[in-house]
Amino acid sequence: AKSDGANRVAVFDESMQDNVAKRMDIEHALHGAIGRQEMRLYHQPIVDISTGRVTGFEALIRWQRSDGTIMSPATFIPVAEDTGMICEIGAWALRDALSELRGWIDDGVVPPSTTMSVNVSPRQIADPNFASIVRHALSVTAVPAHLLWLEMTESMMLDEPELAENTLREIRAMGVQLALDDFGTGFSSLSLLQNFPIQRIKIDRAFVQGIAENTNDRSLVRTIIALGQSMGLDLVAEGVETVHQLQSLRDLGCNKAQGFLISHPVPAPAMGSTMTALAEL
Ligand code: C2E
Ligand code: CA
Ligand code: CA
Ligand code: CA
Repeated sequence: AKSDGANRVAVFDESMQDNVAKRMDIEHALHGAIGRQEMRLYHQPIVDISTGRVTGFEALIRWQRSDGTIMSPATFIPVAEDTGMICEIGAWALRDALSELRGWIDDGVVPPSTTMSVNVSPRQIADPNFASIVRHALSVTAVPAHLLWLEMTESMMLDEPELAENTLREIRAMGVQLALDDFGTGFSSLSLLQNFPIQRIKIDRAFVQGIAENTNDRSLVRTIIALGQSMGLDLVAEGVETVHQLQSLRDLGCNKAQGFLISHPVPAPAMGSTMTALAEL
């Protein structure tokens, strides 16, 4: 039994070293990745549940490394956050997402009221330049501020709640809209709604998954929707994969949905054909 334990320790050590090596490799390769044009945004449609129309998109970043492998944001965003590189990556994503939207509107691919949602990290919101980065991105792309949604998670206010609050109020004052992502997965969702100028709740995929079969999940979603409605918030359910889930969400009064059932995230050049396919559904 003793040698068993020793073996386990050894294995654990090795995998920790693997992780450290992996992180260093990611960190190293991330340097200059923007300049080498290795980052791409994919866009996932968000639809109005009652009309089925696309009202906007969420921009989701993909990293194609020089060796050709595609790395998921779940893997590299945390590294980019720790090193501060997220500020450069985030500024690029904001600018790129808005210029895609500008192009689609100009080309008639989407209606001029279509919105773009961009994920932002706590590090970005803590950056004193963040509000001017947002203002500049809107101005160079000539996208009206109210078409931009910034999606953030509750971890944004863990470090510097006052700094975050001031920055968010400044951005809100420009007309930009703010969404609370992964709603219900953390402990402070409710106090965030109280203290920050939020216009939208995104109901986490974890709750949407069991909505058609599991009564607990259904009760939770029903409660989140009631809360959102009473505060006059826009409600988007994420991770909708089945018709049953979509029907349940409609029955419960959720107004928007996003998920593989409607569309996977698509690269920008595929947006024309995606919009045509969605219009025929
Ligand atoms: P998120 O903001 O919660 O994004 C939703 C994730 O769910 C995306 O994963 C999306 O591809 C995936 N998804 C959408 N519909 C479905 C579905 O029906 N079923 C399932 N199983 N998954 C679905 P993705 O693209 O891998 O992104 C992961 C996370 O990385 C995002 O979670 C977000 O937190 C972060 N992220 C992505 N792009 C950016 C970015 O530009 N900046 C920052 N700061 N974070 C980003
Ligand atoms: Ca998001
Ligand atoms: Ca989310
Ligand atoms: Ca998430």
